[in-house]
Amino acid sequence: MFNSSTLAGIKHLGELWRNEIWHIILDNDSLKVEKEILSRSLFIKADKNRAIWMPTVDGRLTIKSAWEAIRQSSPIVPWAKAYWFKGHIPKHAIVVWKVFQNKLLTKDKMQNIFPSIISRCILCSAHQESINHLFLNCGYTSWIWRSILRRFNTRRRPFRSLQEEENWVRLNWTGMRQAATAMKLALSSTIYRIWKERNERQFQNVKCHKSVILKAILQDVKERINWLQLHDRDNPLSVSIASHFGYMLNIKINRERFCSWTPPLDGEYKLNTYASLESNEGGLGGVIRNDRGMLISLFSVNCSME
Ligand SMILES: [Zn+2]
Repeated sequence: MFNSSTLAGIKHLGELWRNEIWHIILDNDSLKVEKEILSRSLFIKADKNRAIWMPTVDGRLTIKSAWEAIRQSSPIVPWAKAYWFKGHIPKHAIVVWKVFQNKLLTKDKMQNIFPSIISRCILCSAHQESINHLFLNCGYTSWIWRSILRRFNTRRRPFRSLQEEENWVRLNWTGMRQAATAMKLALSSTIYRIWKERNERQFQNVKCHKSVILKAILQDVKERINWLQLHDRDNPLSVSIASHFGYMLNIKINRERFCSWTPPLDGEYKLNTYASLESNEGGLGGVIRNDRGMLISLFSVNCSME
């Protein structure tokens, strides 16, 4: 932090620490940070001159603790969780951050600067391009987002504003379960993919059908969830979401459960089944074993009332 010339001539730290304050003259403005860091250190008079770093418990200076000590921190905004969650995809998070900071230069904003610009949405050619239109209310995006919501067992139209949509995701899909993380990933991937599609149409004249974008979002979620070491609950909703997105469901078993199984009579087979029913969907599974308990066949069926 200090080069040899900065500290030249100083034999003891005691020369810097007198009357309970640091006596440091650093004329160079570029050393402001170093001054700030030194101001957080406390000199201990013992057998040997020693300085401790007050912001950490063990008194050791680390880059992370220095950064935390000198940075200007602001209150965390609720929507930060829309892009800053465990498992987020960085390139998606950058676009989502810009959206919620209102820094994305959509055409309605550009028209304020350049009144002659055509502000029509390039995805539908029917309405003015704005954040809420582009990422929710445009027919192109609305179809994609409704298709995604259905995969989370939610049937409704998109909300009118992206803030409302983010609020709903944050309040209804909490925690670190696979399904909750999949929902946050789906929202951020949708925003990223729609912005990418908008730019490709705008600047490269390349168009993708909405079903292609939907497929890319599903793939984003699937790959990320399979990569993350997360768990989920053993219930029909978790099974259904995992099967819709195609990721491996990782059920957390808190304790072992012992059960008994009685084999069929000699030369016969036994079918064991399990079924569940929700308000608008259900599932059925079965296992066939022989009289020695060997697995012969298994099946599972999911159905929903579309
Ligand atoms: Zn549109």
